[in-house]
Amino acid sequence: VSFQIKQGETVAIVGESGCGKSVTALSIIQLVPQPAGFIAGGEVYYKGQEITRLPEVEKRKIRGNEIAMIFQEPMTSLNPVFTIGYQLLEVIQRHQGIRGKSARDAAIEMLDWVGIPDPVKRFEEYPHQLSGGMKQRVMIAIALSCRPGLLIADEPTTALDVTIQTGILQLIKQLQREFGMAVLLITHDLGVVSEMADRVAVMYAGKIVETSDWKTLYRNPRHPYTIKLLESLPSRQKRGDALQTIEGRVPKATQYPDGCRFAERCPSVMSGCDTLLPPLIEIETGHHAACHLYNPAFHSVAEEQEEREG
Ligand code: SF4
Repeated sequence: VSFQIKQGETVAIVGESGCGKSVTALSIIQLVPQPAGFIAGGEVYYKGQEITRLPEVEKRKIRGNEIAMIFQEPMTSLNPVFTIGYQLLEVIQRHQGIRGKSARDAAIEMLDWVGIPDPVKRFEEYPHQLSGGMKQRVMIAIALSCRPGLLIADEPTTALDVTIQTGILQLIKQLQREFGMAVLLITHDLGVVSEMADRVAVMYAGKIVETSDWKTLYRNPRHPYTIKLLESLPSRQKRGDALQTIEGRVPKATQYPDGCRFAERCPSVMSGCDTLLPPLIEIETGHHAACHLYNPAFHSVAEEQEEREG
């Protein structure tokens, strides 16, 4: 998996459950539990610095301070036995190095910033006294209290109902404008992508299969998986027609083929697709797809093979 996020930009990683979106996000700040997780290879650069090989103490400074994360389940991300204020103060004291009244003022200001009414009162309350939307706002306040350069939002609105979802997405956008941070948004919801993302990376079975800006991807998808994914959107169906689905199943992570991981389900599959891994190729400026349909090298190999066999 390889992608970039620029300052102030929102990049969305989309794909169905189990395709590797969250593991990708957790790998950036190395929160994949070890064991069973381990670093097999690759690099992660933040502001030009490779961060996977830093000593743990340095990594901790980046995690939370420079790169913050909000998770999909605000109900389980907050500790039920501590007040909202305590949990916010813990982060502010650790990362901003301020204490006492200044830390408390900063925490209350943060609660106010994320739209929590009566922040002084809420500061003293416990998570069970807040609604789901409020809890997610608290999580955002905790994540942003150190003014991170990059916010990773892993399905931030999945557990919330639709009206609250809109409020949370608008809040993230507004805070992004104020703080100038980059956002990596992990989602399976293309509606959320269309509202939030500047660029999109579509993932399938642990690989990025297509990237581009959202408008281009929506109007002119090129990878057969993205085409099928968009065709299955209810908004693209004709009234009365059965919903479109993608036949077959995602291969198990332990049984990926050597070649294209979508080969078994692909309507455009060609001989050799399942044995040769398609590289991510630029098919127009800023638009990349990992598919042999756009890979000139694949076609010459296939022709050579045909000639030999013929
Ligand atoms: Fe389909 Fe082949 Fe492209 Fe994979 S590489 S998406 S199997 S055409």
